[in-house]
Amino acid sequence: MYKPDMIPVEEALERILTTVHVLEPEVKPILDCTGQLLAADVVAGFDIPPHDNSAMDGFAVLAGDTSHASQKQPVYIDVIGEVAAGYTSSLKLTTGKAIRIMTGAPLPAGADAVVQFENTDETERKRDKKPLDKIGIMEPAARGLNVRLKGEDIRAGQVVLKKGSTLYPADIGVLASLGQAQAAVIRRPVISVLSTGDELCPAGQPLAPGQIYDSNTYTIAANIAMCGGIARITGIGKDTLPSLQEKIRQGLDADMLITSGGVSKGDYDVVKDVLAKMGTISFWTVRMKPGKPIAFGTLKAGGGRVIPHLGLPGNPVSSMTTFERFARPAILKMLGKTAYSRPTLLAAIDQDIANDDGRRVYARVHVSKTAGGWKASLTGPQGSGILTSMSAANGLAIVPEDCPLAKAGDKLTVQLLDNAEGIL
Ligand code: AMP
Ligand code: MG
Repeated sequence: MYKPDMIPVEEALERILTTVHVLEPEVKPILDCTGQLLAADVVAGFDIPPHDNSAMDGFAVLAGDTSHASQKQPVYIDVIGEVAAGYTSSLKLTTGKAIRIMTGAPLPAGADAVVQFENTDETERKRDKKPLDKIGIMEPAARGLNVRLKGEDIRAGQVVLKKGSTLYPADIGVLASLGQAQAAVIRRPVISVLSTGDELCPAGQPLAPGQIYDSNTYTIAANIAMCGGIARITGIGKDTLPSLQEKIRQGLDADMLITSGGVSKGDYDVVKDVLAKMGTISFWTVRMKPGKPIAFGTLKAGGGRVIPHLGLPGNPVSSMTTFERFARPAILKMLGKTAYSRPTLLAAIDQDIANDDGRRVYARVHVSKTAGGWKASLTGPQGSGILTSMSAANGLAIVPEDCPLAKAGDKLTVQLLDNAEGIL
């Protein structure tokens, strides 16, 4: 049954979010800024495009010269020169004259329209080897036809990108088109990752009897990267006070420390004890399943600095669901973001899900579209050690605290995960 020392999921998240802070700005090359938040408005120093230019390959003309042009009776105009993108022409157009022009080339002085090649007799002239110092215009051109105006995209002095907006590829392109090689963005948090347990062996090493491979370091570090943080692997701490203290010390030079394991009630679950010595614990049980034992607090990091510490449970699925629920929002907040929620949808579950002790259950499901709506299929046995149930899942179906049994066919809210891409 529900025990009062378990705090609700929302309260746990709120305590975490009030403890972590938005990080300071850094200035760096724009290509390294994708996904980060702008720390200051970006103001255009000049117009874009910087000059009127042609939107087509064709002939720059005076629109008035073409008003009687038709397929049957082309208007013939003298071609006095040519201008390509990247060059300017010193020639000035006067009535009865045209300049051959390429897409992106600055519009010559005097011109007010561009007639594309297809509406001229250029191809026939070339085929029939006729002189190219004349061109037949075969359709009237309105003023401004195929002309891209100076400043039509961005005006000098305009705020083009706002402080606090996330830089996506188009925004990186806008910065580049303003000639800015660098941008000021909220820096990425560095998160130390520490796994605990005498049984753990790092991937790539031979396994001794009784050992298992450490997977949490990798799922946590990969998730940190997915959120936009920088994972710093501290390694594996043993289940003794001195070993853990030493490892935690190594992880203090970061914006947050995430440990896994050692927070339940077993004889060797010493993370709580170490934390009590090295900092303060805010809570260590949350009313959720999997993931009840999860510690949160702060650690003294030296020099008066204090860093948040999230002690995730050791079971691989529990550590992933608690990361999703608590570590991800904390990292997003440090990055300056204000929206932490995942997309959700309502999906009918394919099996009963029991909720026998009044916690909020996050069941691993695979969501798919059916003729009757969204379907959420449980991804096999739901034990908190069964990591493949997580790798097969693209969502977490939520059974509320006060619902003792969600029946097959019931519609549950499903919180989609990163790998839910493409299902919509
Ligand atoms: P603990 O929370 O330390 O009691 O661990 C709970 C369970 O999770 C135990 O079966 C551990 O062996 C397992 N476990 C703890 N840490 C890891 C890890 N880093 N990788 C894989 N399994 C782990
Ligand atoms: Mg352990």
